[in-house]
Amino acid sequence: MPEKTLPFTREQIQKIIETCPTPFHLYDETGIRRSARALKDAFAWTEGFQNYFAVKALPNPHILQILKEEGFGADCSSLPELILAQRVGLSGAEIMFTSNETPAGEFRKARELGALINLDDISHLAYLERLAGLPETLCFRYNPGPLRSGNTIIGRPEEAKYGLTRAQLFAAYALAKQKGVKDFGLHTMLASNELDYRYFVETARMLFDLLIELAREVGVRFSFVNLGGGIGIPYRPEQENFDLARFSREVQALYQEKIVRHGLHPLRIVMECGRLITGPHGYLVATAIHKKEIYKRYIGLDACMANLMRPALYGAYHHVTVLGKEREPASFTYDVVGSLCENFDKFATDRALPEIEIGDTLVIHDTGAHGHAMGFNYNGKLRSAELLLQANGAVRLIRRAETLEDYFRTLDF
Ligand SMILES: *Cc1c(COP(=O)(O)O)cnc(C)c1O
Repeated sequence: MPEKTLPFTREQIQKIIETCPTPFHLYDETGIRRSARALKDAFAWTEGFQNYFAVKALPNPHILQILKEEGFGADCSSLPELILAQRVGLSGAEIMFTSNETPAGEFRKARELGALINLDDISHLAYLERLAGLPETLCFRYNPGPLRSGNTIIGRPEEAKYGLTRAQLFAAYALAKQKGVKDFGLHTMLASNELDYRYFVETARMLFDLLIELAREVGVRFSFVNLGGGIGIPYRPEQENFDLARFSREVQALYQEKIVRHGLHPLRIVMECGRLITGPHGYLVATAIHKKEIYKRYIGLDACMANLMRPALYGAYHHVTVLGKEREPASFTYDVVGSLCENFDKFATDRALPEIEIGDTLVIHDTGAHGHAMGFNYNGKLRSAELLLQANGAVRLIRRAETLEDYFRTLDF
């Protein structure tokens, strides 16, 4: 079975723990840059390709800064996310605003920043116009409903709250054109954590076909197509990486066959991947503080699902390494659990691991996307620190852990 490796040594982690107690998330700058470049390189054939990093995956400005250096924009869906993007110096078409059920102030801020706005409903056109006027460029999010199947995290498109129906799209582009919008984008996002590249090829095919129809029937001009995020990562050791090369090659063939042939070239291809870029390069580091044997064998950590909600939320697998015991046989079966008063607060269930002693350091893999970001304060849990393992080998605190003072700050008591 392929192994999951770590970009740091046990000694490095022990040194970090001396000044920064567990639990914390540690991000690997080198890995993040490598993933960013791999995506960019895969689409080097198309001019203007850009990934708008989905800020919700890892909303830390130090990470956004690194990705900005790699040429990425930011995909935002709330006011704080817009302001994060602004704080790292992104503006205009470097920001994609893909929101839903959007409050007025967020549309105003997106307009103020000159962000590309991706509307989630036909009614939002009039709403946006009334609030802040319409921009020159506008995008709509398509929901194909029964025409496509989804996957487990987002669910079937028919049941998903996002986007416009096919019929609504034709009406929305026509209306926007009539209101003076000059230039358009088309977006969809149907799957999350999908590892099969063919799913995204089908999405590209669907969007290209639709765009051709829209251009012809409504007479609008498209400057970009947004293939969304949702590319998966191999959380399990036996899973393979998403095949970026084949994905890109097949999209290129479709681009020739459809976009070029119908005279719609140049069309910028953009994406909004979060997980693919940072997911594999984050690690939740925790300490085993209790061992308990009842009907099952438990290892209690000083971390809990407030630090990483994915296992509880989706039954997601996250690989666990017991630091320093990588070569020992996995001859024990444990539930690795947190301290929340919720029985689904488990990082791993019935997991074969080496024998764990109290005080061992456990590393939970692939927490670089939708990890710390999903944190919460339920049960009085404080959010952990975030650290960056820099390309030069040094470790930097990029978010301190929450304190009791933070917890009480919003209380008038
Ligand atoms: C969550 C989200 C993304 C990012 O998803 P990943 O799985 O992290 O790639 C992109 N676009 C939209 C609209 C999203 O809601």
